[in-house]
Amino acid sequence: MGQSASPILSVNHLNKQFGSGCEVCSDPKHRHLERNYCRACGTVYSCQDITFDLYPGEVLGIVGESGSGKSTLMRCLYFDQDVSGGEAYLQPYKEGESNLFQESSQQKKHIRNHLMGKVYQNPVMGLRMNFSSIGNIAEKMIAAGNRNVSAMESRGSELLERVHIPVYRMKEAPKNFSGGMQQRVQIAKALSNNPPILLLDEVTTGLDLSVQANVLDLIKHLQRELKISMLLVSHDLGVIRMLADRTMVMLDGRVVEQGLTDQILEDPQHAYTQQLVHSLL
Ligand SMILES: [Zn+2]
Repeated sequence: MGQSASPILSVNHLNKQFGSGCEVCSDPKHRHLERNYCRACGTVYSCQDITFDLYPGEVLGIVGESGSGKSTLMRCLYFDQDVSGGEAYLQPYKEGESNLFQESSQQKKHIRNHLMGKVYQNPVMGLRMNFSSIGNIAEKMIAAGNRNVSAMESRGSELLERVHIPVYRMKEAPKNFSGGMQQRVQIAKALSNNPPILLLDEVTTGLDLSVQANVLDLIKHLQRELKISMLLVSHDLGVIRMLADRTMVMLDGRVVEQGLTDQILEDPQHAYTQQLVHSLL
C-alpha cells in the first residue's frame, strides 16, 4: 500500500462558504470566527483551504465531529455542491491537468458516472428505495452509457453477490432490506462502473455494532481486491483506524492534522486529535 509516484486525486486550497462574507471575515489570514461562523455577517466557512493528495490504492480517512466540514468536503468533491474556490485534479481525467471544479456540468456528470462512486450515510440519498436492487445498479450503468440489458444484469448480480446479497433477493427493493443490507446495495451500485475512486460518507453510522463491523469488513475486503482508492469520512476514529492508511483530522472547517494513521494514533499532535485518541482507549 506504499505511495506510488503521483496522486490519483489532488485537492488544492478548496474553500466552501455559505454567505458572502464581510470585512471582519473576508481575509482568510485575519479572520475572526466563532468556530467556522462569522458573528458579524452570519457567513459559515465550512471548508477552509483544504489541501491533500490521495494516492492509487490508498484509503485516506477524514475524521472530525459534525460541523467540521468533512461531509461538505465530500459533497464538493462529488459535485453535489459547488465550491467557493480551489482546485481538484483527477489523474484519470484529462491526465490530471484540468481543474474539475471548472468543468461544465455535463463533464462533471461524466466524472461522477465513470470515475467516482459515492456511498451516503443515508441510503435514501444513494438508492431508489422502491426500485429493485439490481435495477438500482442498472440505473447507474445506464447513466454511464450502457445499453446492453443482459450485460447489466450479469454485472448487477455479480456485484450484489460480491456484497453478499443473496441471489433470490436481488429483485427486491432496498426498502425491504435492513440498514446493513441497504449500505451493501449502495456499495455495489457505487462500484458498478469500476470507478478508481470511492467516496464513503459515514457509511456505518447508525448501524448496530455487529452490522457495522460486517460492512467495514466488506469494504476492507473489496478495497484489497479491487485496489480502489478511497476517501473515508467518519466521526468515529475507530472506523478510521480499521481502514485508513493515512488520516486527516478536521475541526471547524480546517485540517488540523494529517499523517499516517498509526502515527496519529500513537502520537497525536493537535489537542483535538489527542482528545479523539484518548476517547478511543
Ligand atoms: Zn463576516
